[in-house]
Amino acid sequence: MSLIVQKYGGTSVANIEKIENVARRVIHTKEAGNGVVVVLSAMAGETDKLIALAQSASSEPDEREYDALISTGEQVTITLLAMVLNRMGYRARSFLGFQVKVLTDQAFKKARILDVDTEAIKKELEKGTIVVVAGFQGVDGENNITTLGRGGSDTSAVALAAALRADVCDIYTDVDGVYTTDPNICPQARRLDRISYDEMLEMARTGAKVLQPRSVELAKKYDVPVYVKSSFSDEGGTLVTKEDKDMEKEVVSGVTYDRDQAKITVVHVPDKPGIAARLFTPLAEHNIVVDMIIQNASIEGFTDLTFTVSRKEAKEARVLIEAVATEIGAGKIEVDDNVAKVSIIGVGMVSHSGVAAKMFSALSREGINILMISTSEIKISCVIQAKYTELAVMVLHEVFGLSQKR
Ligand code: ADP
Ligand code: ASP
Ligand code: MG
Repeated sequence: MSLIVQKYGGTSVANIEKIENVARRVIHTKEAGNGVVVVLSAMAGETDKLIALAQSASSEPDEREYDALISTGEQVTITLLAMVLNRMGYRARSFLGFQVKVLTDQAFKKARILDVDTEAIKKELEKGTIVVVAGFQGVDGENNITTLGRGGSDTSAVALAAALRADVCDIYTDVDGVYTTDPNICPQARRLDRISYDEMLEMARTGAKVLQPRSVELAKKYDVPVYVKSSFSDEGGTLVTKEDKDMEKEVVSGVTYDRDQAKITVVHVPDKPGIAARLFTPLAEHNIVVDMIIQNASIEGFTDLTFTVSRKEAKEARVLIEAVATEIGAGKIEVDDNVAKVSIIGVGMVSHSGVAAKMFSALSREGINILMISTSEIKISCVIQAKYTELAVMVLHEVFGLSQKR
């Protein structure tokens, strides 16, 4: 008997008909002789509604209460699926994060899973029960409910698959696999049959929201094969797995974009040792991830420092930076959240030159100004004005030959 973890995203459980569709898929897998653990998201749009509600209660809601509220969408879907499965004649039982227990750290809104207790789930699986677990949520060491960051149900699913040593983790969503770029903004996007953990990780980190980055990290670490599939069709699918010699080492295999970006510039920063540490330490202490950083050439002992953070955290970052800026005698702070990041990803980049030049030329031909650049071994990212996002994605997809069949 195989053990299969299946995760269904928000659009796949958006109403009772869709939940019934999920139930039929789950039953099909169960009837084929497998143990099944299902991980669900909230109904599409529900988490957004809960976040808006929290913000209507307070402009700065207490983070503990915030997580306890925004995790409730998943409680609705798991219980409904268990009820539907029961009605269809199958034993099913829902579990919230704390009932499992999915132990996390205390970083509310973006908690990391520390441990998954598999005992309760295993007991149910032994009885032949279909286990239905709430994604996106966990519990910290002091019994506070935590959430894992937007898109966190993917991570719940992979963490459960790893802890239970499941044979595969199927991620069911509204597209039938991982594409060369977001198929919803680029009709020329092509589905990939397979993609390596490393490329998928870089795509996820740079904005391809089909998988939460942390889920790919865990899949790689614990060697969990992840299959991205459509909830609505049996065609297609993409296997995320270890790189092997049969995988073509494309120079560029994907293009991503991320609109959740804000650019913060601190003007007239004294150019002295220790200043960057002073500026960035408070951000780190508040768990704010800084992505790109640029420091301009120093003129008469002063420099400008620009960095990017998530748009959602720009306000908090500004407040923290303002406090340090005053202490160190820096000038004003400018925040621009009309920016986006476009990236190209490919393991073949390591052994090819001229990839960056080709990217910059393609953007410049369209009159798109590059505001910031960052590179890694298998990725080049550019921050541009947000209004050019789609155009940049289309152009890069075309110029790197992704529109044609491999
Ligand atoms: P779910 O609610 O099922 O978790 P998400 O909205 O989080 O679904 O992720 C699926 C979406 O990811 C797709 O609808 C698609 O717009 C987007 N996406 C972005 N980049 C890619 C890509 N390279 N391949 C497939 N989907 C992508
Ligand atoms: N419901 C959560 C969200 O909207 C988690 C998820 O869908 O993965 O972010
Ligand atoms: Mg998702």
